[in-house]
Amino acid sequence: MEDSYRHKGMRRQLVKVVRSKGIKDERVLDAIGKIPRHFFFENALVEHAYQDKAFPIGAGQTISQPYTVAFQTELLNVKPGDKILEIGTGSGYQSIVLLELGAEVYTIEYQKELYERTRFALPEMGYKANFFFGDGSLGLPRFAPYDKIIVTAGAPTVPDALIDQLKVNGCLVIPVGNTKTQQMLRLTRLEGNKLRKEVFHDFKFVPLLGDDGWKK
Ligand code: SAM
Repeated sequence: MEDSYRHKGMRRQLVKVVRSKGIKDERVLDAIGKIPRHFFFENALVEHAYQDKAFPIGAGQTISQPYTVAFQTELLNVKPGDKILEIGTGSGYQSIVLLELGAEVYTIEYQKELYERTRFALPEMGYKANFFFGDGSLGLPRFAPYDKIIVTAGAPTVPDALIDQLKVNGCLVIPVGNTKTQQMLRLTRLEGNKLRKEVFHDFKFVPLLGDDGWKK
């Protein structure tokens, strides 16, 4: 698929929309302005790629709304070299935003179909992440600890395993609530096993499934 002037123009427009909704981090806005989101869409849906909306990607899942991706990424305050665990690989779009900001990305997906598709699609686009198939509600203990963890599906509660897998001063960005709406939380692990909790506004995510998520 090509990345035409028309696509680039639509992307500039999308950046304006995301900025107008309150995103200030220029690095995050630059990443949104650079990544060809239409590459993640089936041919029939390409015209919708630069709307600020979530869209179906198969297996009953969605590529998140660009504003939501930008909001979560801004909360992570990504520094080059940060080791970040993403729960919910999905299309791989969020992984690419993190890679564009210089992070080392570990990403885990629960749906085999999406895991298989995305772990081949991203290298074809020139992006290198570490892909895993499994239940991310338990984190990815084999490669812990992480500087930052981002959960891109709505959780019923904060999984303890994710806090345990954070470095001291590391943070977890996670939407928590019921299956209809979730509050965005940022939890920072402080010295002496203390936690700082910050609460942001509501979002609507697909459910985080698994042992420490919603049961099927
Ligand atoms: N980050 C994705 C993107 O940029 O396209 C967002 C995808 S979607 C909003 C959330 C994803 O979380 C879905 O692909 C879903 O299959 C996945 N998911 C749900 N529960 C999971 C779990 N326990 N472990 C890993 N992934 C999970």
